[in-house]
Amino acid sequence: QVRVRFAPSPTGNLHVGGARTALFNYLFARSQGGKFLLRIEDTDLERSTKESEEAVLRDLSWLGLDWDEGPGVGGDYGPYRQSERNSLYKQHAEKLIESGHVYRCFCSNEELEQMKEIAKLKQLPPIYTGKWANATDEEVQEELAKGTPYTYRFRVPKEGRLTINDLIRGEVSWNHDTLGDFVIMRSNGQPVYNFCVTVDDATMAISHVIRAEEHLPNTLRQALIYKALGFPMPHFAHVSLILAPDRSKLSKRHGATSVGQYREMGYLPQAMVNYLALLGWGDGTENEFFTLEQLVEKFSIGRVNKSGAVFDSTKLRWMNGQHLRALPSEQLNKLVGERWKSTGILIQSEGPFIEEAVQLLKDGIELVTDAEKVISNLLSYPLHATLSSPEGKAMVENKLSELSFALLAAYDSGELPNALEEGHSGWKKWVKNFGKSMKLKGKSLFMPLRVLLTGKLHGPDMGSSIILLHQAGTRDIVSSQAA
Ligand code: GLU
Repeated sequence: QVRVRFAPSPTGNLHVGGARTALFNYLFARSQGGKFLLRIEDTDLERSTKESEEAVLRDLSWLGLDWDEGPGVGGDYGPYRQSERNSLYKQHAEKLIESGHVYRCFCSNEELEQMKEIAKLKQLPPIYTGKWANATDEEVQEELAKGTPYTYRFRVPKEGRLTINDLIRGEVSWNHDTLGDFVIMRSNGQPVYNFCVTVDDATMAISHVIRAEEHLPNTLRQALIYKALGFPMPHFAHVSLILAPDRSKLSKRHGATSVGQYREMGYLPQAMVNYLALLGWGDGTENEFFTLEQLVEKFSIGRVNKSGAVFDSTKLRWMNGQHLRALPSEQLNKLVGERWKSTGILIQSEGPFIEEAVQLLKDGIELVTDAEKVISNLLSYPLHATLSSPEGKAMVENKLSELSFALLAAYDSGELPNALEEGHSGWKKWVKNFGKSMKLKGKSLFMPLRVLLTGKLHGPDMGSSIILLHQAGTRDIVSSQAA
């Protein structure tokens, strides 16, 4: 049976890279009728936090990647947190001592430092050359009796090669002699990461290990431990890195990189899942739009690309637009309505107003927040108030259309733009003459002029506003966001 796991270390937020690893595991399990496990790798007690674990679980659930076994749901292979599996690691370490695959190493830190220095001088890899690999029983007993602290060290074969057939990268092999005898349990009894992972994967009956490429160097150690423990080796699939557009490793300086950040920005989980799947996978056609169900149906590990995939936030944004428009209209209305209510644009979150507004706006948006900007801009023109207030009425009575034709003429002839180029004095002179020729002054001149020139009934000082608007339009100094 296919059994795969996602094994996050709860030391931070769920990164898009981790989310993609989780997704590929999930898709593989679901497409094979297998099980998807979640295991919390909290051996690093200093860096692991409960908050981080909770955040990771929340983000996975938000993405819709529900696990069959793990924290919160249980299962027959628990516990599912490494911090609760210590006795299991001890037990397997003892087994390896008995079989001779592991030995007790009583070297002090100073001795180990010395070995490293010597290796460095000889330009050799820092390989353990201490005597404890071949110590006699008496020597060991003597140190035990003295109470000398010791680590458990794995005996790496001195010859031969290890080859795995990676499902994504093909054959990968290492010479055993590139690796020194390594520690699997520290002198304080703390098991070492690679050992925990192997014992866990083996005892949780994991059939396929799908994880990030950066774990490839660990695979050699883990494979050796598998063999020593006599467990069947799982299949391995190492997924390549996610890169930034400049092809460096994606990091915080490239913008939002955690799933939680995208959720807060208003991205849909469907869009996120779809986009993450395309980072290194495709169904072989031009199609890029997939629901989670469709991904389960189409996914195959053999189609996962071995070269790095570039994370393109513009494309993710575009994809979000695709998924927004694919939502059933009640869902989209609800999403938008709740958003508008929570941001204070509206006082209710449903009703025909929202339905019509969504209908009008949905083709032009990628994020729910885009609709927000457009609607609040539109609503800033108080149509009803304009036509029902005394000032508004006055405007209509003052033959707005006559005024508009005169205004257009003043603009087309260059008279108004030239005046605005001169700043306040130019504006004052022009508006005075304009009022004279229209036989209007005071409020009945300024109110309709304001509406015609700014689209609004009220605002800051009109002369200054119009000079600013003129500059904004002719000098290209305003970012597109101001709209
Ligand atoms: N805990 C590791 C990580 O978060 C994953 C190890 C594995 O998948 O084998 O990178």
